[in-house]
Amino acid sequence: MFCDIVAGIVPAHVVFSDDVAIGFLDARPVFKGHVLVAPKEHYVTLADLPGDLVGPLFTRVQRVSAAMPPALGAQGSFVGENNTVSQSVPHLHVHVVPRTKGDGLRGFFWPRGWYADDAEAADYARRIAKALVLP
Ligand SMILES: [Zn+2]
Repeated sequence: MFCDIVAGIVPAHVVFSDDVAIGFLDARPVFKGHVLVAPKEHYVTLADLPGDLVGPLFTRVQRVSAAMPPALGAQGSFVGENNTVSQSVPHLHVHVVPRTKGDGLRGFFWPRGWYADDAEAADYARRIAKALVLP
């Protein structure tokens, strides 16, 4: 579906469009001004994105984030990206949501849990570290 937005087949409120990515308003915003930044080429998840596109994509995410305070009077922003789970459209997209203190956004961060103990937390850390591929 986002490929259709890139192709201009499906209309969107486009914030920017260049050789790397397109930024457009989420049709169902968390807050008005909620932008989705998606690579022009079709990749489903962040893991699928070629390494040499990570910097260019996130530079644009950074620029969108930086634009929110002056553009919208927001105090800051939330930047997030879902992979597969809770990913409503299978084309990589980064959410940039304008934030203002007291805006009531808490749902993104719940429910929170606890580790059973330090050993369990250390085990999770070890498993992630083992799977991590650093540049
Ligand atoms: Zn696509």
